[in-house]
Amino acid sequence: MIIVMKSQATEKQITDVINWIESVGYKAHPSSGVERTIIGAVGDNRDKAVLKYAESLPGVEKTMPILKPYKLASRESHQGDTIIPVGNLRIGGPEFIVMAGPCAIESEEQLLESAYIVKKGGGHMLRGGAFKPRTSPYSFQGMEEEGLKLLDAARKKTELPTVTEVVSPADVDLVESYADMLQIGARNVQNFALLKKVGQARKPVLLKRGMMTTIEELLMSAEYILSSGNPNVILCERGIRTFETATRNTLDISAVPVLKNLTHLPVVVDPSHAAGNYKYVIPLARAAVAVGADGIIVEVHPEPEKAVSDGAQSLKPEKYYQLMDDIRALAGALRSKAV
Ligand code: PEP
Ligand code: MN
Repeated sequence: MIIVMKSQATEKQITDVINWIESVGYKAHPSSGVERTIIGAVGDNRDKAVLKYAESLPGVEKTMPILKPYKLASRESHQGDTIIPVGNLRIGGPEFIVMAGPCAIESEEQLLESAYIVKKGGGHMLRGGAFKPRTSPYSFQGMEEEGLKLLDAARKKTELPTVTEVVSPADVDLVESYADMLQIGARNVQNFALLKKVGQARKPVLLKRGMMTTIEELLMSAEYILSSGNPNVILCERGIRTFETATRNTLDISAVPVLKNLTHLPVVVDPSHAAGNYKYVIPLARAAVAVGADGIIVEVHPEPEKAVSDGAQSLKPEKYYQLMDDIRALAGALRSKAV
């Protein structure tokens, strides 16, 4: 249920309504717009009739049911676009954000070299996996905490905020202590224990769409994180599994405007895991700018031919610089976002 406050409602009236919502067993999620404050009351649906009573509280204009099953993620419950701070960056604001780096952290040299390349090209964040969700148990599983330490050191040297994946609820605190943003990978999009755990974290979460999840299911997964207390969720379209085999996955570019219509959360695109081949990464990244995404996350490696994972889809430094030039030109031409 949404409780819409009158435009002249006082701070005290807003606080009283929040306290009342909590007293009847619901969680209150206020959202202040330019005009007025609205308060989402979210919880067990069984006796939501009690929330109707809010209409008789001072300062309340009206109550409205939230029709979508993803209550907090839906545009109905939040005024305007959510802008997520990561250090000095703002994701979902006027700037198109580029997160770039290797699939996996492999060594100090490899990560530092990657970080300097990302920085030189004008990228905003450094990506790199320390816990890798691999299809085969025999593939490289990541450097774990040692990798996180390298990521932290690279951040200190380049001042690039970092994003890295967490695959287990038991590792969330550890990963959070080193990284600026937590990535939930495609394979864990419906790992509800993990979603609830990152929902208790203080760092923003990059939530990737699974290869078999619908847009509504992705939003329900975001809802797990939001309803557990973390308001900072960025959605990522990274390709879905279709009958097509020419690419690793099929980039569902239409997911971007559809998500933008349904949710206030920022939306980024991962052209690397969608394509599976570096040749298609630049065109897909351009499409992400054109379609109105808030940014991309892209794999870049100093020597892709030696990469321990996802080398085929990783951009060499020159290709990455070209990608950044293209993004700047396109964003300028479209007068959409700055880079
Ligand atoms: C990754 O970012 O390296 C990764 C494993 O991505 P995804 O979860 O989208 O496959
Ligand atoms: Mn990868």
